[in-house]
Amino acid sequence: MSAHPPFLDPDTLSELAAPLRGELLSPATPGYDEARKVWNGMIDRRPALIARCRGVADVVDALAIAREHELPVCVRGGGHNVAGSAVSDGGMTIDLSRMRGVRVDRAESTVRVEGGATWADVDRETQLFGLAAPGGVVSTTGVAGLTLGGGYGHLRSKYGLASDNVRSMEVVTADGQVRTANAAQNPDLFWALRGGGGHFGVVTSFEFELKEVGPEVMGLGVIYPLEDAPDILREVRAFMDDPAEDITFDAVGWSVPDVEAFPPELRGRPIMLLGGMYVGSAEDGDEALAPLRNLAEPLLDISARQPFVGLQSGFDPFFPEGLRYYWKSIYLDGLPDDAIDTMVDHMDRRPSPRTIIPLRPRNGVINQIDASVTAFPERSSPFLLSIDSTWEDPAEDEVNIRWTQEFWEAMAPFASNRMYFNFAMGEEGEDVLRATFGDNYDRLAEVKSTYDPDGLFGGRSAGVAGAE
Ligand SMILES: Cc1cc2nc3c(=O)[nH]c(=O)nc-3n(C[C@H](O)[C@H](O)[C@H](O)COP(=O)(O)OP(=O)(O)OC[C@H]3O[C@@H](n4cnc5c(N)ncnc54)[C@H](O)[C@@H]3O)c2cc1C
Repeated sequence: MSAHPPFLDPDTLSELAAPLRGELLSPATPGYDEARKVWNGMIDRRPALIARCRGVADVVDALAIAREHELPVCVRGGGHNVAGSAVSDGGMTIDLSRMRGVRVDRAESTVRVEGGATWADVDRETQLFGLAAPGGVVSTTGVAGLTLGGGYGHLRSKYGLASDNVRSMEVVTADGQVRTANAAQNPDLFWALRGGGGHFGVVTSFEFELKEVGPEVMGLGVIYPLEDAPDILREVRAFMDDPAEDITFDAVGWSVPDVEAFPPELRGRPIMLLGGMYVGSAEDGDEALAPLRNLAEPLLDISARQPFVGLQSGFDPFFPEGLRYYWKSIYLDGLPDDAIDTMVDHMDRRPSPRTIIPLRPRNGVINQIDASVTAFPERSSPFLLSIDSTWEDPAEDEVNIRWTQEFWEAMAPFASNRMYFNFAMGEEGEDVLRATFGDNYDRLAEVKSTYDPDGLFGGRSAGVAGAE
């Protein structure tokens, strides 16, 4: 693309923008620099155009502009993808951040959610009625990207991934058609969008099935010293021998954050946090979670009955927008002693105390669903490890990135080359993509060629969230 493509001429631009209810931003428009920012402060990309849509018709018109001017399209839901896949240099971003409507249907126990909503938007409306859609664990994350890539949250053990709970979607495909994707209409597209990523069209709204949750739940938050991590991780392994379906938790290598909520003497101390919830009544949760609160002598136990919306936003302060983030993930085939030693050794040597290393037991419903039912491929691994490197100073980029890569490579002997692409930098090779999607890979490529034959939505052939 030339430095000044003809459509950036002010007269042409205002002609293109005229039908939109939202705005069409170019590099010359005030507010452009704010609009191109995403959550990860490492990402600095300059789209040629940003279409801030205010409705489905705006999305249709924006796609027509992209087609006419041959601009590859990215979609922005919540803007949280760590690889910054909502923005590309020289392309068009279809920004749905003005489309955050949420409407609960109590009779049907469903919720209709627009494509730019966050999980905070959803929880706020659904919890009015003691209902919830399984989502993520940080309330500022976008519903769209998280769901399209799979979606792990506090309700996963009992109800599965966010994508397992989608009943229907409204999608604008590359040809500008507004389609319904569900079990009866465009079932191949519906299949692909549940776990295959966002490169098949713009999802303007999702319909989720709702579950009865809260408003009060029993949350788990036990802080053990990192020195006890080897024993605790062995207990986590034992938990998976006969796992309860109504307990969801992560074992997280971390350091006590330097915030007022924690006693000054503990701040900065390396820890293993067991965080999660009981997916059932708060009363039953007290007893059910007790064993996980006594695996060693805790430094602090903040487990408590609390509002579900509080639990859902409890981690928000530790993932501020604009810091430097480099994340990788890997599905483990098991947790032998060697894997535990490797993990603890790397946890000990984190270059940044902000870095969070959650090990997610995948107990319950997730692994009971056949891998061919949706595009989400991973239905057997007992654990998902993610290495969420987080730091502030650009001068520390290299040391943090190198440590993350080394840690990830050191875990390879305990895994089968599969990763969760919602925790990935988009730099993974074709072999990881194929290994992860397995038998679903070719079917995804077929759906991609049906609905986006010219590759308007960028992405790799199989269309994977997080991949560029
Ligand atoms: C702080 C934080 C906490 C997180 N917690 C969790 C968690 O608990 N569980 C979990 O599973 N993941 C979690 N994630 C990962 C998260 O699932 C991904 O980052 C996801 O991509 C975020 O979605 P988004 O809509 O905010 O991202 P965006 O950057 O807006 O979008 C990511 C990609 O999704 C696609 N996309 C977005 N919106 C649409 C749309 N409407 N239609 C079509 N395609 C679209 C596009 O391909 C885009 O490139 C977390 C991430 C962060 C940063």
